[in-house]
Amino acid sequence: MASKDAIEVIEPATEQVMAEVPRAGIEETDAAVERAKRAFPGWRAIAPGERSALLHRLANAIEERADDLATLEARNAGKPISDARGEMGMVVETFRYYAGAPERLTGKTIPVAGGVDMTFREPLGVVGLITPWNFPLTIASWKVAPALAAGNTIVLKPAELTPLTSLELERIALDAGIPEGVLNVVAGPGSVCGQRIVEHPDVATVAFTGSTEVGRGIAEGAAGTIKRVTLELGGKSANVIFADADLAAAASSAPLAVFGNAGQDCCARSRILVERSAMDDFMSELERVVKGITVGDPLSDSTQMGPLISADQLHTVSSYVNGDAPVAIRGSVPDGPGYWFPPTVLAPVSNDARPAREEIFGPVACVIPFDDEDQAIRIANDTIYGLSGSVWTRDGAKAMRAARAIESGVISINSNTSVRVSTPFGGFKQSGVGRELGPDALDAYTEVKNVYYATEE
Ligand code: NAD
Repeated sequence: MASKDAIEVIEPATEQVMAEVPRAGIEETDAAVERAKRAFPGWRAIAPGERSALLHRLANAIEERADDLATLEARNAGKPISDARGEMGMVVETFRYYAGAPERLTGKTIPVAGGVDMTFREPLGVVGLITPWNFPLTIASWKVAPALAAGNTIVLKPAELTPLTSLELERIALDAGIPEGVLNVVAGPGSVCGQRIVEHPDVATVAFTGSTEVGRGIAEGAAGTIKRVTLELGGKSANVIFADADLAAAASSAPLAVFGNAGQDCCARSRILVERSAMDDFMSELERVVKGITVGDPLSDSTQMGPLISADQLHTVSSYVNGDAPVAIRGSVPDGPGYWFPPTVLAPVSNDARPAREEIFGPVACVIPFDDEDQAIRIANDTIYGLSGSVWTRDGAKAMRAARAIESGVISINSNTSVRVSTPFGGFKQSGVGRELGPDALDAYTEVKNVYYATEE
């Protein structure tokens, strides 16, 4: 039994406690903000080239530990080890990409009368970063790397369910030469530590990834101190498959675009819109692939899907597949302990039905038939969310029309990729505010300052 001052970290594939870490509260959060505040003048004063070198050292140090970190993440989040290895590769790439930023944070000169006008991109100060449990270190890196590159100091609060790799990152950063106080991690409840970060007067901005519901509260809380906020929230993305697409390619890649990370992915293409004339061919290929998904031990190299993160999540996901749900395809799960839920396809589903409207955040896909391009776009946009999505067709003009018409921050044509380190990622509508990754992420961690220098008497 853990003391009330410790977080018991559970391994979702075994339901066993894998670690205990001290539970931070208000006092520890305030102390972290204070350390970050004290470290800020020194960190921002480090010459751009030197800050860049430190970020490269940090990237190298993470790379050296990548195998351990991947194992820790796979066990704690219940994700397949091959996915976790890929994620650690992305973490390293993210630090390398933003290691190039300190020397490229250029301003503008603007022609004006009577003098010279120039702009600077100044760091904000202490930034608060709040992350979810589905891609713990990856999403932390998307925030930490650009924030450090721009000269800010950090208080990072990982999700209570998955704090381990973020706590490791804090240690690795210190060992790599990032000065004391620049990167501080507080592991504690969102309603305590998270809320304190949001309300703290010395925190300049909050970059949050998590549910739309908590994000709404963060936007409200941030208003008290006019904090800047970046919100990366939920999704209910559409994978639109026209009859003239390469159906075999679309059907074989659709399952992992929703069942990857056991469906606990904000970019999950959980609404599969299929042109009615292609339904039969599409469904038979989909069935073959879904039935072949290897669900099991996250630490096995052949595993493609692990368990859900918690008993609560299992309960929530199960509520969408009750007695009258139109289950068309169901994969398999292992016996024994673990929060397992099989890959499940519901078909045909109306876009008004609850599983098509709400973010399930589990391995449940809805197949929704459509009759023409207009209807496909209408259905794709009939959601409060707008995070990612795909369009599959061999007609280039139709692909571009659809990609432009779908109200979503990220769209792929004839592919289901959502995220690249060098390109912007974020949501339209209630999927969020602001962009991470690519050149755009730096906007969230800098303020534009305009300086006018009078040169005429
Ligand atoms: P969550 O909203 O429950 O928690 C996210 C983080 O917020 C955690 O660290 C949590 O402790 C903290 N938190 C909770 N209450 C808080 C409060 N009152 N004040 C401040 N912080 C608080 O989300 P989750 O369950 O960890 O993650 C799942 C959700 O995240 C899904 O909705 C998913 O779509 C979303 N998500 C979005 C993206 C994206 O980039 N858009 C990426 C991954 C996950």
